[in-house]
Amino acid sequence: MSDIEGGCACGKVRFKVTAPFMGMAVCHCTDCQKASGGAAVYVAIAGKDSVVVTQGSPKVYASPGDSGQDVGRAFCADCGTPLYSLLGPELPITPVKVGALDDASALSPSMHLYTDSAPAWHLMDDTIPRFAKAPPAGPPPS
Ligand SMILES: [Zn+2]
Ligand SMILES: [Zn+2]
Repeated sequence: MSDIEGGCACGKVRFKVTAPFMGMAVCHCTDCQKASGGAAVYVAIAGKDSVVVTQGSPKVYASPGDSGQDVGRAFCADCGTPLYSLLGPELPITPVKVGALDDASALSPSMHLYTDSAPAWHLMDDTIPRFAKAPPAGPPPS
């Protein structure tokens, strides 16, 4: 397969994803609401070493996640586009912001996370699993 590519709005930061995504999550946690400026964030789940920055260097904002480990959020320091998150060593994944991908048309959401924090008016897909907080397997992608 050819690599999936993405980048920020101004074009200074570009990245590629070198392995197929494992799914897509919709995260409603309050941190994701702040980071996205929206009511939820849509993330494609990549393997930990499969996101490779090919141009520029994103800035990372780190804050403690639900697990107690820091969650780093990579974004373009020039245009502010959220790009992907950096999770602790206990989670072998890198959540990539779907809006940062050049083409996300082949993906569709596979679960809702942290629905406890979702505003009541936010529409959710009734056909996929919902978790009040993290999924049972461990802390969620953010
Ligand atoms: Zn940019
Ligand atoms: Zn989140």
